[in-house]
Amino acid sequence: MSARSLDGAAAATAIRASLADRIARVTTALGRPPTLALVLAGADPASEIYVASKLRTAADAGCRAELFRVAADGRLDDVLAVVRRLNADAGVDGILVQSPLPKAMGHDAEQQVFDALDPAKDVDGFHPVNVGRLAQKRARLVACTPSGVMQLLAREGIALAGKRAVVIGRSDIVGKPMALLLLHQDATVTICHSRTPDVAALACEADVLVAAVGRAAYVTPAFVKPGATVIDVGINRVTDPELVARWYPDGHPRRASFEKKGSVVMGDVHPDVWDVAGAVTPVPGGVGPLTIAMLLANTVTAAEARAAGRPE
Ligand code: NAP
Repeated sequence: MSARSLDGAAAATAIRASLADRIARVTTALGRPPTLALVLAGADPASEIYVASKLRTAADAGCRAELFRVAADGRLDDVLAVVRRLNADAGVDGILVQSPLPKAMGHDAEQQVFDALDPAKDVDGFHPVNVGRLAQKRARLVACTPSGVMQLLAREGIALAGKRAVVIGRSDIVGKPMALLLLHQDATVTICHSRTPDVAALACEADVLVAAVGRAAYVTPAFVKPGATVIDVGINRVTDPELVARWYPDGHPRRASFEKKGSVVMGDVHPDVWDVAGAVTPVPGGVGPLTIAMLLANTVTAAEARAAGRPE
């Protein structure tokens, strides 16, 4: 392992610390802390953990965070009714509806919810108005994971102007906004997806490679130019002991952790990539903590806009 580890947790701590003055100012201006409403439909265990972590982080930072639950057998209309109520509530600055929504709500339930949000409170940056503004390079609320990656790259002094960037994945949540943000920093950007032939050959040209695929160890050393910066967005829970044995040698701490817990969380990047790349984000501890830090940053931005009388 020779690559530098890009410490997302430290960057997230620094981002949260940098928000403290803004939170104090906007709290004075509004007469209340910046307020985030989290909507959770159903009882997906992973979502419960994510939501608890967001509530805790917001409270620790001096924001107010409130949870609104919709029962697992609730309808999409119930979620939309909560969203409309929160849209109209002047005491709420940001709204986040936790994904995934229960399958029974329909395949386009999430899009319908994003469409229903007040764009000024859309702290996930998924409303079409915010997506359009991002495309035009005039967004205030940008999707948290890709904007967190940009913060990390900036803090680590990784140059983008004139560099080749390859993003693997084209989701609305990660891949597409990631590619736009890199483009806005003057990188030359290629987006790969499941229909792209020979992804490795394209990825190999990247100075900055972002993997947002959702397949454990998908990015092998064959995808990586020596010295490249590799951003691993993937979060994959692996339960197959054969795969874990293949990826982590005997005595590796991840092997021991797997033997204890029966699963291991790993990214889209194969462990051997650390021997080729110049810098890599670890999983966990890389991109994940930045996502929540940027959620807070977006909540503060939304609250500042409200305090300035320009929520839009
Ligand atoms: P997604 O919506 O499933 O998108 C995955 C993308 O990968 C799609 O564009 C898909 O292409 C592409 N893809 C799938 N197989 C491929 C292949 N063999 N070759 C090339 N491209 C392929 O997932 P997502 O929401 O973007 O999330 C991606 C990963 O990031 C997941 O592991 C997720 O858990 C993780 N994530 C992490 C954070 C964080 O805070 N760290 C936040 C969000 C997501 P098509 O479009 O052609 O299907």
